[in-house]
Amino acid sequence: MKRRAPLRRTAGPRRQKPLRARRVHRVVAGHGQTHVAEALRRLVFARDEGQCQLCGTGCTPLTLQHRAPRGMGGSRHRNTAENLIVLCGDGTTGCHGRVEHNRDWARARGFLVPMGIDPADWPVFRFLDRWEQPSADGWAPAARADGQLLPDDEKGAR
Ligand SMILES: [Zn+2]
Repeated sequence: MKRRAPLRRTAGPRRQKPLRARRVHRVVAGHGQTHVAEALRRLVFARDEGQCQLCGTGCTPLTLQHRAPRGMGGSRHRNTAENLIVLCGDGTTGCHGRVEHNRDWARARGFLVPMGIDPADWPVFRFLDRWEQPSADGWAPAARADGQLLPDDEKGAR
């Protein structure tokens, strides 16, 4: 099904997406859908080994974080393995709450994806320790995307 491309707010060059196997696992959500299909949810929890990808805890509650903002430019990326990571807490507590309440901090470390950027091109500073790109196939070492800030003051940001 073809979908109209969302309005982009940033000029910047668009990267061509590489051809690879991600489409095999890709689950596309319907319009306005926030529910993550069970198969995709299982895939992401397995990939992330039931651990918060920020602090490493396996304690519940663990929830799925949508890295690209909901609605607007992020909607077409919403329910993909590249866009989903496991975090502890929910929208107000734990690392999930921390990300939602410190959005600039989270964007600089990949826990949120800036508007107009493809989550497949925006790695995560996983466990605040290493840059890796999530996909349906797992986590792969990755260079920081252009424009990302150095996580040079982790302690001060907590
Ligand atoms: Zn956590």
